[in-house]
Amino acid sequence: MALPVVAIVGRANVGKSTLFNRLVGRRVSIVEDTPGVTRDRIYGKSEWNGVPFRVIDTGGIEMDEEDEMGNLIRVQAQIAIDEADVILFVVDGRQGVTQADEHVAQVLRRAHKPVVLGVNKLDHVEQHALSYEFYRLGFGEPIPFSAEHGQGTGDLLDAVVAALPKASEEDEDEDAIRIAFIGRPNVGKSSLVNRLLGEERVMVSPVAGTTRDAVDTPLERDGQTYMLVDTAGMRRKGKVYERIEKYSVLRALRALDRADVAFVVLDAQTGIVEQDKRVAGYALDAGCAIAFVVNKWDAIEKDDKTAHRFEEKIRDEFPFLRFAPVIFVSALTGQRVSRLLDVAKEIAEYHAMRVPTSTLNRVLADAQVSVSPPSKGGRRLRIYYGTQVSVKPPTFVIFVNDTELSHFSYERYLENQLREAFGFRGTPIRIVLRARD
Ligand code: GDP
Ligand code: GDP
Repeated sequence: MALPVVAIVGRANVGKSTLFNRLVGRRVSIVEDTPGVTRDRIYGKSEWNGVPFRVIDTGGIEMDEEDEMGNLIRVQAQIAIDEADVILFVVDGRQGVTQADEHVAQVLRRAHKPVVLGVNKLDHVEQHALSYEFYRLGFGEPIPFSAEHGQGTGDLLDAVVAALPKASEEDEDEDAIRIAFIGRPNVGKSSLVNRLLGEERVMVSPVAGTTRDAVDTPLERDGQTYMLVDTAGMRRKGKVYERIEKYSVLRALRALDRADVAFVVLDAQTGIVEQDKRVAGYALDAGCAIAFVVNKWDAIEKDDKTAHRFEEKIRDEFPFLRFAPVIFVSALTGQRVSRLLDVAKEIAEYHAMRVPTSTLNRVLADAQVSVSPPSKGGRRLRIYYGTQVSVKPPTFVIFVNDTELSHFSYERYLENQLREAFGFRGTPIRIVLRARD
């Protein structure tokens, strides 16, 4: 589901990251718990009064060396304008209005997006009067707060949530399989999308996505609709911030939020690099169905073992994605590109699959008989019963006598048993243990 986005903007050292961390907290994510996966903390999920939203810390967006410092604020503000539904403009109340604040304000005024002005570092109520001077920035009532101590952040969030667009304004086609092509720059994402659009019948004209310039393109084959998510983002080359790695990450994260299927595109020519792992980690964290698409297959020397070896390499480098199928394609020649939709359809079905509770419990019972659950201090883990609580991805709650008795390796064993029984090709599955006596 697409969540509204709040971007935190402001010059350096006003407390953007401090506020970001307060809003996003230390959310436990499966990616952070997965060895070998790194994650940039510039994009997180938050909630206030039951309203969920995404938060971007634009301060975390770094520029390439070639860009001058002077551009930094402008670029960050521009990204916020492009990506956000509401802009949270942060200033330092103890320093008063600075030239850099004026500079940010100038850019934001042209945005025609709601701006909430937060005056930070006013840790004590007696200091609140210091916020008045910020009226002159022209964004209405400045809200005094303290990112470090939490003071006033409630008022700030009330203002932010009030400015958010009302939920579910867009009317999404429930039956469409939504596909995002993700990967580092130059692996061939745009080429693949263009090739696919050239080969398949495009149903209707592209539709506006959630961000102002996101465009999703629908395709149809054999009565199934596919939606290519954020096709515009792929074509928007050459803008100043396209070169910023974290910006493309942001773009990918937004696309993943709205996708069922993530095609993680790798470049056969350059092989697998560190950044590919990060990209794949995001897809896993988003809970999408995942397939690896090895592109530029035309460009390398091959014999009958090349594909097999490449796949082995993928299994070595992405141990947390063993369930993801691998497909070798060429956007240049079109080789196997039309197969992509078949793969998307298959893994999307597993992603949305519901297993009957009775079958599930038979599998769990058999699993316990084959390999006894672990024990600690003379007590053994006992599994009472399990139930599937949601889809996309399939999520199971398993009731046990005591979760402390469980062990990571046993949960992985259970996952493998579920995969053996039900397939679940291409989809992550989640298992949550819960105590019940
Ligand atoms: P950013 O560059 O805008 O992301 O700013 P940071 O979040 O890194 O904060 C810059 C400095 O301001 C750090 O030393 C923070 O500890 C400090 N700071 C942030 N918020 C507050 C606050 O509410 N009160 C006080 N006194 N200091 C703060
Ligand atoms: P993106 O940044 O991931 O969207 O990558 P592009 O689609 O812009 O492609 C980057 C470069 O790789 C371009 O020069 C493409 O012509 C080239 N390229 C893309 N797909 C293929 C392919 O299948 N084979 C070969 N040989 N080159 C490709």
